[in-house]
Amino acid sequence: MWFKRKPEQPPVTLEPTETPAAAPEQPAQTAQAEAPAPQATEAPAAQDEQKGFWAKTWDFLNKPIFVAETEAMSQALEKTKSGFIARIKKLGNRWTKIDEDMLEELEEILLESDVGLAVAEGAIAHVRAKHKLGEVTPENLSDVLEAYLREQLGESAPLPYTPNTLNIIMLVGVNGVGKTTTLGKLAHRYQIEGRKVLIAAADTFRAAAIEQVAIWAERSGVDLIRHKEGGDAAAVVFDAIRAAKARGVDTLLIDTAGRLHNKSNLMAELQKVRKIIEREAPEAPVEALLVLDATTGQNGLRQAEVFQEATKLTGVILTKLDGTAKGGVVFGIKKQLDLPVRLVGLGEKVEDLKDFDAGVYVDALFSEAAKPEA
Ligand code: GDP
Repeated sequence: MWFKRKPEQPPVTLEPTETPAAAPEQPAQTAQAEAPAPQATEAPAAQDEQKGFWAKTWDFLNKPIFVAETEAMSQALEKTKSGFIARIKKLGNRWTKIDEDMLEELEEILLESDVGLAVAEGAIAHVRAKHKLGEVTPENLSDVLEAYLREQLGESAPLPYTPNTLNIIMLVGVNGVGKTTTLGKLAHRYQIEGRKVLIAAADTFRAAAIEQVAIWAERSGVDLIRHKEGGDAAAVVFDAIRAAKARGVDTLLIDTAGRLHNKSNLMAELQKVRKIIEREAPEAPVEALLVLDATTGQNGLRQAEVFQEATKLTGVILTKLDGTAKGGVVFGIKKQLDLPVRLVGLGEKVEDLKDFDAGVYVDALFSEAAKPEA
């Protein structure tokens, strides 16, 4: 598209290279949290106000694209395409008829791509039924599967946003899945999209997590509410909601702990955070998003149960899709967790966190680059 960011513009990365000491000092108590945001952190919005038409247009044209396009998605899915779709296409080339041996091989490919047992069995039953009707041959097997998988994903469900009110986005997930990085990418994105963003560093369990979030916040010029390590996560959220209301924030991003001493601690903490949100901002739409690492495939889905018990989840952010052949897990998430994939991580740059478009995903998976070797 002609309004893409110019290639010579360096991509914005959120790799924390600064020392934690560079992180801004932030209010630790409610009273301080309610103080107006420092001028410096409001600079991007204020500068925008003063910009002329052409400057604004230039900014608009050079904004990173946060919606997945087929080509970018296809490149990021290269490993999944060669380990999954190319094998299916090859299967169609190798067999002269659809029979039980072939179906067994097909099921194996599906399972190895981490679509999960339910989707794999459903797909095989579908192919079998189509075969009885004479509607599937080795030549069109890939097309039949594409149509089936497309149907399984259904409509895309991007992260909703309600203007003129406080929107709360809470990220949950185990350590290492990319939760903090994703929060930083989201903060940066919303900031450049013109929203008024505040971050709550409610993973008080790890000092490093607080510092990492502080660096993201500083880089994006976004306000941050933090307490000391070991503090009460719900108290951070309490302060953050008060501050958000005082400052007219429309998007509050909450980072939460990924691992406490044990499962019941983790659940108790998340439930407490949720209770504070319901009490302090009952009117706010809340998105509780489970961040999952695509490279862990089906194993990652088991984590969902713990978090689902602790808090009502509204969707999934699937990170590191670029580094795995287990991209089939997208289908498993929909089927097994019955949660929409809201966003996907296709790399480490800010613009690599994309809105998930189900149609684009399936188009990209089955697009030409996944052609099997002759
Ligand atoms: P946390 O412990 O869940 O907060 O995880 P971090 O945010 O610290 O991320 C762990 C690692 O995953 C970091 O090196 C990130 O740069 C990396 N990461 C996060 N999202 C993606 C992604 O979509 N693609 C790739 N390749 N790496 C990612």
